[in-house]
Amino acid sequence: MVADQEAAGSNPAGDTMNLSTPITRLPGVGPIYEKRLKKLGITTTRDLLFHFPKEYQDFSKITSINKVREGQTYCIKGRILDIKLKRIWQRRMSITQAVIEDKTGSLKLIWFNQPYITTNLQKDDEALFVGKVIRNKTGITLSNPSYEKTEQEEHIHVGRLVSIYPETSGISSRWIRQMVKTILDQLDSLPETLPKEILKKRDILEFQEALKQAHFPDSKQQAKEAKKRFAFEELFQIMLFVLTERKRLAKVKAIPVPLSIDLVKRLLSKLPYKLTDAQRKATWQILKDIEKPRPMNRLLEGDVGSGKTIVAAIAALATIREGYQVALLAPTEILAKQHFKSLGQLLSPFRMDIGLLTGKEDKFISKKLPKDVIEISRRKLLERAKDGSINLLIGTHAIIQDQVKFSDLALVIVDEQHRFGVRQRAKLLHKTTLIPHLLSMTATPIPRTLALSIYGDLDLTVLDELPKGRKKVKTSIIPPRERENAYKFMAKEIEKGRQVFVICPRIEAKSDKETEDGKIIRTVQEEHKKLEEEIFPDYNVDMLHGKMTTKEKEVVMQKFKRGTTDVLVSTSVVEVGIDIPNASVMFIEGVEHFGLAQLHQFRGRVGRAEHQSYCFLFTDSNSETTRKRLQALATSTSGFELAEQDLKIRGPGDFTGLKQWGVPDFAMEQLLNLQLVEEAKEAANEILEKDLELKKHPILKKRMEELREKLHLE
Ligand code: ADP
Ligand code: MG
Repeated sequence: MVADQEAAGSNPAGDTMNLSTPITRLPGVGPIYEKRLKKLGITTTRDLLFHFPKEYQDFSKITSINKVREGQTYCIKGRILDIKLKRIWQRRMSITQAVIEDKTGSLKLIWFNQPYITTNLQKDDEALFVGKVIRNKTGITLSNPSYEKTEQEEHIHVGRLVSIYPETSGISSRWIRQMVKTILDQLDSLPETLPKEILKKRDILEFQEALKQAHFPDSKQQAKEAKKRFAFEELFQIMLFVLTERKRLAKVKAIPVPLSIDLVKRLLSKLPYKLTDAQRKATWQILKDIEKPRPMNRLLEGDVGSGKTIVAAIAALATIREGYQVALLAPTEILAKQHFKSLGQLLSPFRMDIGLLTGKEDKFISKKLPKDVIEISRRKLLERAKDGSINLLIGTHAIIQDQVKFSDLALVIVDEQHRFGVRQRAKLLHKTTLIPHLLSMTATPIPRTLALSIYGDLDLTVLDELPKGRKKVKTSIIPPRERENAYKFMAKEIEKGRQVFVICPRIEAKSDKETEDGKIIRTVQEEHKKLEEEIFPDYNVDMLHGKMTTKEKEVVMQKFKRGTTDVLVSTSVVEVGIDIPNASVMFIEGVEHFGLAQLHQFRGRVGRAEHQSYCFLFTDSNSETTRKRLQALATSTSGFELAEQDLKIRGPGDFTGLKQWGVPDFAMEQLLNLQLVEEAKEAANEILEKDLELKKHPILKKRMEELREKLHLE
């Protein structure tokens, strides 16, 4: 995510190398290497330079020959007394044998299948050798050592801290080292990407120096400093971005929505339950926010089933009552429809027009409450949004399209995953003077440090309490031999009238590769067939996945909702929000393919009514990580706790929202480093205070534009 160097004036059209030079322009990188490098995600010189070592091996100490012991790895300096290449034609192999000496003695060296060595090394050459000492027929021998002649001024493979990289077949650490060196030698004056004052004040390594220290460090400390610099830079850019958004927001105006306690009370009196304390507090906060003439920018974070919808509904009602419009964005069509239906019911006593806009199929419904659902054309729906007669428009991201305009949009509610910048909100209104309030809802528990960084532009409200009377979902890890019993258990639940979800990691088997590391990956199609034909021939088994058309998906969901279907085999489409209170068993195949937060979401699909519910976890993996994660899932019912656990076990990479930012791994780790995050924030503030528009920082400005694009903020 480091800013593009081209902005700083090098010559992208010419033949000189810069950070965007395709890797194929490097010496010796043809189609084969291109393909291999792609596996490591490397296509440009920059990618290669930011392919940081995973560790460093210390070969800075030179051992004298009389001190070497079998089984150890050493760096030895010696002069070549003899070197010869033997080819063994029958076995299609070659052996290079050499003898070296230093002041203390002599040592045999051997290389297998590296016939070119005799062209690099000759008798009387002095070199450094790093390798493992083994004992073979001819005695103590240094096996397959890497080497560099002592006349070479700068060592990269021997006699120093040596970088070990994430490799792939055909790309060794040695190859990467050599290539990185070549690039760094050619790019000898890379422009600094961080403001000078920040470098100075915080004692941060300069760009060029940091790259060098990351790959060819003078000490482990320097290597650490180097990586820290790049992580800091990532965080700094994120903070710069979110703070800019925040500052922009502080300058624009929103429609103030006066608070009407009576109205809220009327809605609450119609609910079959009482709000939890957390819901009441959140509602109050939100109603207070939208009362102000500044746009609200709030993230409502609450575990699965914590009851976010009603909180949003109250805010929507308050806004609509004042004559303004509300838009609700859902991440999937299924969810949009569900919201359309449940909010339609909830708000029916208040008589309003609710529209549903999804987009994939040209079918649109408008609802003149209290009871009729009518289909209208998309054109009419858009007209009604624009002339203000639709009070609440619910939909997928189709709502963000250019043709969709509102007349008096005062509140945008986003359920899961979308981010909304100031300009994006302005666009919905085709006005820039007034910006709608934003309520963003998520069930992804975001730990504090992450909330502070990537969501730093949002105010945070947490629903940390579940409605009373919810039974805990009993979660068990099922070993393969217990599978049959689990099916029997499922049958019993179905006999009681309950319904079952079966989640698989894939839709269909790929013909060429049905397994991964020799393990079967279960697919929706195969499991569906098996359950329908062999296991539950007497029950109704159905399936749901992303390759089905909207219409097909809808029919499947309707049947499951009505209870016609007993078992629904599905991909992760059911992950967020789907509400089937009668379902009591969640059966998850291949759990190692899902993140903990995601598994927790699946589990949240059951246990939504009075029935005791169950979650069965299946895996063929015996990896320690998988075991730990499953254990965490089985013992904890709190999404927040699980998020913390996942962070500890797997790092923050899994969190929704983070991937969008394109934060590289080395910076991901640092997202948990509260001190570094805060320092980055402070630094970003310092820059923005003096130069809010980043006029003096063209590289940063360009970077901000890239980020904005990536996050679809405009
Ligand atoms: P989520 O936060 O996951 O979006 P929902 O808003 O879908 O949760 O609510 C889950 C279920 O809990 C819904 O059926 C809703 O009617 C119910 N619910 C919400 N608040 C309460 C409450 N305070 N007491 C009891 N049930 C509630
Ligand atoms: Mg929800």
